[in-house]
Amino acid sequence: MKLRRLVWQIYPSFLLVILLVLIGLGWYVSITLRTFHYERTAVDLRSRAQLVSEQLNGLFDVTRRPMLTALIKRLGENSGTRITVVRKDGLVLADSLEDPVQMDDHGGRPEIINALAGREGMSIRFSHTLGQTLMYVALPFDDEGTVLGTVRTAVSVSSIDDALRSIYQRLLIGGSIIALLAAPISWFLSRKICHPLERMTVAAQGFSQGKLDTPLPETGTEEAQRLAKALNIMAHELSERIHREVDQRCEMEAILGCMVEGIIAVDNDERVIRLNRAAAKLFHVENRGETGRPIQELIRHAGLQRFVGRALSSHQPLEEELSLLGVEKRYLHVQAAPLTAELNERIGVLIVLHDLTRMKQLESVRRDFVANVSHELKTPITAIRGAVETLLDEHKKESAELQFLQIIFKQSERLNALVEDLLDLSRIEQGVNEGGWELKPAPLLPVLKSAGNACESLLEQRQVSLEVDCPAGLQLRMNPQLMEQAVINLLSNAVKYSDPGNRVIIKASELEDRILLQVQDFGCGIEEKHQARLFERFYRVDLARSRSLGGTGLGLAIVKHIALAHQGEVQVRSTPGQGSVFSMVFAKLKRVG
Ligand code: ADP
Repeated sequence: MKLRRLVWQIYPSFLLVILLVLIGLGWYVSITLRTFHYERTAVDLRSRAQLVSEQLNGLFDVTRRPMLTALIKRLGENSGTRITVVRKDGLVLADSLEDPVQMDDHGGRPEIINALAGREGMSIRFSHTLGQTLMYVALPFDDEGTVLGTVRTAVSVSSIDDALRSIYQRLLIGGSIIALLAAPISWFLSRKICHPLERMTVAAQGFSQGKLDTPLPETGTEEAQRLAKALNIMAHELSERIHREVDQRCEMEAILGCMVEGIIAVDNDERVIRLNRAAAKLFHVENRGETGRPIQELIRHAGLQRFVGRALSSHQPLEEELSLLGVEKRYLHVQAAPLTAELNERIGVLIVLHDLTRMKQLESVRRDFVANVSHELKTPITAIRGAVETLLDEHKKESAELQFLQIIFKQSERLNALVEDLLDLSRIEQGVNEGGWELKPAPLLPVLKSAGNACESLLEQRQVSLEVDCPAGLQLRMNPQLMEQAVINLLSNAVKYSDPGNRVIIKASELEDRILLQVQDFGCGIEEKHQARLFERFYRVDLARSRSLGGTGLGLAIVKHIALAHQGEVQVRSTPGQGSVFSMVFAKLKRVG
């Protein structure tokens, strides 16, 4: 709809009001004038009728008709009035303009009815006799209280109407002149009313375009001044708020920009709300503050996109490790936390990216170092062990010499076990970091049996019996050698920490969505406080006992890393004095066909 300007609403209204006032006034004046003239004429006619009545004494009789007629005609001509004398029975005795003999019975005329009833009668009617509209006034004519008839005077009202018409014409001309003069005045007034509003509209448009520093002049009417003042206050407050917001935004930008961690805020529709410089650099995005774009469009990294999807559908903080391929491979630790607004309403997620590349490099250096050192140590240790073994075989040795040789042999055995375990651990870790071990579906039972065989001498030595409970067809996606090593570690621990005559159970079972591999013993068990740290390298509950049993403190760490290499996890459940259950949990192999 086309909007009309305010001035075009006010101006026609002004004109309309003026015209209505003029028309109303004209109508009222004309009615008043007409009434006034009619009343004056009626009074005049009454006076004339009275004057005529006074001259009729003794003439009010049909026998005196010629004299009466002559008198009436003369009086009528002199006063410019039509005079009619009517007898009580309606018979016209005389008329100043017509022949009374020719005239019909006048007893039915309304003014005459009233006059014969003793009252003054008045009416305005069209006279068929004269062919024009007349005003009649009739007065009763009585003789000592007895109404004998009536004297009626009449004048034409056309002359009054003519006089009134000329007054109307003058009124019309006067009204038109006033209307013509009022038109520009109303236009001027309308503009005067609208002008401050228009000025404020322009200023408000300026405010909306950010020109908040140009205040409105506070002039004009009280209302206009008040409005201008209110608008100026509003603009001032708005300007201050905008400055505050800009300052806060700058501060936030500076903080986010200086952060080493990458920050990405994503809304519920996976659109990027904010992305700091570090995140932009990590993903090679031009950080032009392009917000509102879908993350899939802005950051082409399938892993991160999946992570954002998972974070948005979860209400818990999440974390994950991601790698970025490029000229240089980068490793990221990604954390997600829900972004909430007022009333705890979730508006998206905040992703924090820590660059782990340097740490990973250091870790790799450390791993290589351990692997190299272990490798380097292995050769001299093997040589020492061989030499000591040979010397021990020679029975001629003195007993003290023999004792030393035995100590050297035992320690070299320990050193060898340690180096072996360290080498295994770094081998497993290296495999995981270099893209993972190759895993293939394979039956689990042979692996468990082979682990049992490897521990046969230990089982015999410790007089512990072994039970293997595994469905023959159970398969697992695995590296059989690694898996066997993990089972051997768990089994040898179970045997070592069992009492003679105890049994150890290896049990593999298929759950709904997982495969569970458990090694259970009924030995000494582990106190609760140690359980969480058991899988750390070199963590031992009882150092002396572990050493005496040939332990290195690395067995369970190896088991944990083998489980991780199979995307599984390790758990322990143990009660001191009753025994322990070490479990490895793996995702189930999906059956094909
Ligand atoms: P170690 O070579 O000393 O056995 P591990 O990493 O294999 O090192 O085990 C760490 C510690 O966990 C052991 O020193 C031992 O105290 C405890 N432990 C492991 N398995 C068992 C078990 N089956 N029963 C009781 N304690 C155990």
